[in-house]
Amino acid sequence: MDKHTRLKVAIQKSGRLTEHSLELLTRCGLKFNRGKDQLICHGENMPLDILLVRDDDIPDLVQQDVADLGIVGINVIEEKRLAFEARGIQPLFEVLMRLDQGRCRLSIAVPDDFRYDNPQSLQGKRIATTYPNILGRFLKQHNVQAEIVTLSGAVEIAPRLGRADVICDLVSSGATLTANHLKEVAVILESQAAIIRTPVAVSPEKQDWIHRLMLRMDGIQQVKESKYILLHAPRARLEEIKRLLPGSESPTIIPLEGHPDKVVVHAVCRENVFWETLEGLKAAGASSMLVLPVEKMLN
Ligand code: ATP
Ligand code: ZN
Repeated sequence: MDKHTRLKVAIQKSGRLTEHSLELLTRCGLKFNRGKDQLICHGENMPLDILLVRDDDIPDLVQQDVADLGIVGINVIEEKRLAFEARGIQPLFEVLMRLDQGRCRLSIAVPDDFRYDNPQSLQGKRIATTYPNILGRFLKQHNVQAEIVTLSGAVEIAPRLGRADVICDLVSSGATLTANHLKEVAVILESQAAIIRTPVAVSPEKQDWIHRLMLRMDGIQQVKESKYILLHAPRARLEEIKRLLPGSESPTIIPLEGHPDKVVVHAVCRENVFWETLEGLKAAGASSMLVLPVEKMLN
């Protein structure tokens, strides 16, 4: 009974995606108590449980129908998808939504004194990585024969230990590479966190909750930078003022009592509103400007 009604969402137990994932669920309205070392957390106000696991296990849990949804990096999703396909297994997870977090790239990095011109420069080299399938696809696409050295971690020190000539690893700032005398030479996959789900049909109750969660998450992503702006504008310069409002669709225009030549403009701006924008609006005749944060949005 329980299996058919309570939604199971797998997230990373401890790592770069953990805080973001918990915050996202909290912002969706979920209340839960997270005990120390707990592997499962029951939602108190929604039929939803959180499974806290290693990120690499998340696609498998969705594949095995243990979890209905998972929050995990595109890098892990792609690697698993290719691994399953190589074994002739159909991957049973699909990306529902990309999230604005966990951005990084899977790149080829070489020692500072290594000359890299193009993928052919990797011909005959040993490449250390934790992503053998994605790397294998890249090499195949470029017709390069190289030896893939699959490691489970500490890839960046492989060249210094003599285990590989170059590496293929996740990069965000590049500081780790610099510290290890390596330079990034080619990006083979752009990654970010994403929500995956099983394509297998779930009960109508669960389906309804998945739908509601997706709408809420979409709203959360949209309000991130959004501002609500209110201002008075001369009717004659309305078009110019509308053009100056950053990322706003159709603002609401209301007459201003006692001022036939003026209107009140209400607009949701999808980008941050800076002082320069307000100064520009003022120069175009706007006055009484107010910028408010947007807390929730549902479309
Ligand atoms: P686990 O113990 O869960 O297996 P992990 O060591 O594999 O943890 P983390 O280092 O916490 O994982 O990274 C989790 C995810 O965060 C990565 O798979 C990737 O999608 C994303 N990420 C963002 N920036 C980086 C980065 N600079 N290096 C590594 N991962 C990054
Ligand atoms: Zn991992």
